[in-house]
Amino acid sequence: MAGDEQRFVGVDVGGTKILALVVSASGEVIARKKRTTDNDGPPMVEQISRAIDAALESDSVSVDQVSGIGVAMPGAVDSTTGYLGSVPNLKVDDHRLVDRLRERYPVPVEVGNDVNLGTLAECWLGAGRDAQTVVGMFVGTGIGGGVVIDGRLRTGAEDLAGEIGHMVLTADGPQCGCGNRGCFEALASRTAIEAAIRDGIAAGRESTIARGAEGERMKSRALSDALAAGDELVTEVMTRASHYLALGVLTIRHVLDPDMVIMGGGVIEACGEFMLPLIEAEVRASCMRGSRDTLRITQSELGDYAVALGAAALVGPTMS
Ligand SMILES: [Zn+2]
Repeated sequence: MAGDEQRFVGVDVGGTKILALVVSASGEVIARKKRTTDNDGPPMVEQISRAIDAALESDSVSVDQVSGIGVAMPGAVDSTTGYLGSVPNLKVDDHRLVDRLRERYPVPVEVGNDVNLGTLAECWLGAGRDAQTVVGMFVGTGIGGGVVIDGRLRTGAEDLAGEIGHMVLTADGPQCGCGNRGCFEALASRTAIEAAIRDGIAAGRESTIARGAEGERMKSRALSDALAAGDELVTEVMTRASHYLALGVLTIRHVLDPDMVIMGGGVIEACGEFMLPLIEAEVRASCMRGSRDTLRITQSELGDYAVALGAAALVGPTMS
């Protein structure tokens, strides 16, 4: 099969759901299947296979009509062997998942990191379509990223490229989940934002968010609602987080000087309207000037399908 008759499968494996897409070579979504991740259920390879099979079935495609299967995992993946390192939010019983899938499906199978692949998809079909060098910055529970240069994902010598959440922005700063101190995500992730708001409330500050948020995870939507209501504490914390995000963008600019930084993730999707202008203004006001002022800071466009589309891109569809 050639051209748009080719089919690729992209799978986004997350802590709560597994999304499998069947896509054409031009990135059109032909079929989709979403299943709930069952951390007490069958082996992960079995759960992923069921999602793939269900997606293929709904498009009446047999597996030998498929040109490749890409799988995105929420953790560390060895880009050479596909071996899974630490996958924090998922019960993975077999770290050679890629080998098990290759035994099961007679087509090329590749595995990659979810945030890396989300960035790749944005370059293929989303905000970065016309950019050459792109860094993705996804702000949620942590801060993930990805680096794409000339349409190709860069994973680095040790598969650490794009781990921008662990750039150290303040020496001896707050403890990060990785064990180091002062990491970017310990300062500007939703987790860090939530901790700062809770500290403010504990210190006696008034906040609209205090009502109904006790003991519960603070959702990004609750943050945007509080911003819209003019909540002083939340506005202050989000302004500071935007400052750290601007410092992150500046650091990336000084290392890689990309055409574009694409920002996404739950916090940006909910609060981007407030945060992006602050980030943009601070980056533009930087004392360290380039020869031109061309860096674009843009919000991601692909939403929930980004990671699965990026997984499909891993196995072949061209990005030209
Ligand atoms: Zn860290």
